[in-house]
Amino acid sequence: VFYSTISVIYRRIVDDLLSCRRVVSDKYTDKRFATRAIWSGTQNIDGSATTPVFLTSTYQLTDERYQGWADGAQHTALYSRLSSINSEAVAAKVAALEGAEDGEAFASGMSAISTTLLALLSKDDHMVASADCYGGTYGFMTEDLPRFGIEVSMADMRDPSSYEAAIQDNTKILYVETLTNPVLKVCDLEAMAAIANKHGLIAIVDNTFATPWACNPISMGFDLVVHSGTKYLGGHSDLIAGIVVGRKDLIFEIFRKKVHLGGAADPHMCYLLERGMRTLHARMPIHAANAAELARRLEAHPMIERVNHTSLPSYADYEVAQRIMPAGSGMLSYVVMGGDEAALRYIRTLELIFEATSLGGVESLVECPFNTSHMFVPEEVRREAGVIPGFVRMSVGIEDIEDLWADIEQALVAANAFLESRA
Ligand code: PLP
Repeated sequence: VFYSTISVIYRRIVDDLLSCRRVVSDKYTDKRFATRAIWSGTQNIDGSATTPVFLTSTYQLTDERYQGWADGAQHTALYSRLSSINSEAVAAKVAALEGAEDGEAFASGMSAISTTLLALLSKDDHMVASADCYGGTYGFMTEDLPRFGIEVSMADMRDPSSYEAAIQDNTKILYVETLTNPVLKVCDLEAMAAIANKHGLIAIVDNTFATPWACNPISMGFDLVVHSGTKYLGGHSDLIAGIVVGRKDLIFEIFRKKVHLGGAADPHMCYLLERGMRTLHARMPIHAANAAELARRLEAHPMIERVNHTSLPSYADYEVAQRIMPAGSGMLSYVVMGGDEAALRYIRTLELIFEATSLGGVESLVECPFNTSHMFVPEEVRREAGVIPGFVRMSVGIEDIEDLWADIEQALVAANAFLESRA
């Protein structure tokens, strides 16, 4: 009886520690996702329902602020490169949505990623990542980190054992993305976190494509989650932003490097980002439902060779997707018959769906990776990654599904006519 009582108490203590590790504490902590999206982090100043925009570079040095400075400055609005009322609000909101202890906001997703890696890696350290990750991140890891004596090995995000095989004595970080761009491979985050924990590595995931609505990597064992706030979090294609949330001790180190590197989030941008996040839970189900319906219809269309979407049982990562992000995703990719020329003809004939790079806004965006994100990648390397001729990436918006489908159908008719004229 004594030992079982001790073990129950011990388990309680461990559970308490884990739950405070997982959840940012504000008065909405025990509320559900939609309530946290609206209220967590938002500063009701002088009775305001939203966080007012603080267009100030500096703040009066009151006794309270001096004390905050003495205590570490991180969350005290003193000078807006360090922290502002608006950047605190958005960082706290994402931390609440991801179930993280703490967070920092940045001027862009790339600023969040580069500052995080520079804060946690030193000369002679090593990290494991994948060549499938976002191009800017790949460029930073392969061009810049080696200049500081930091080594990066590339493994396969679909195969956790390839990550484990790449671990060395000096490995510090395991880096993945929930859903890759543009092939939409799904990473088995649970297996990756288990490997990182087993080897004592810091596990970092870019959760931009999935969003905290679809996937919470911290609950699966990740230490840090990065986001390009430019995409779904902002949700309206009108800002550039970045966020990192996770373990408090790591976020503090990242904050210190943010102060040196200077990628602070502008208060006005934070206001827009916060406003966007207050409807994340309302937008995401429509993005995901529209994408799933287009995926289903495209799969049956004779002009389409292949469709990648997490909702399709025919999709290579369907099983993993159902476990890691069952709510689905607004990102879709497909292959138009007839190669890149036909795909380009198709895209240029679309009238409603907008040809542009980026993703996650309320409007549908479409691009051919061969002449945008993968323009400088040799064709054989593109093919190897799954970006075969005719490949189209689409960020499905929240327009009416029948209007989207009518636009796609008429453009596929034009692509078909183009193919027939060539035959
Ligand atoms: N991570 C992913 C998955 C992205 O797609 C992007 C940009 O497209 C970034 C990071 C970089 O974000 P930003 O453009 O906000 O710097």
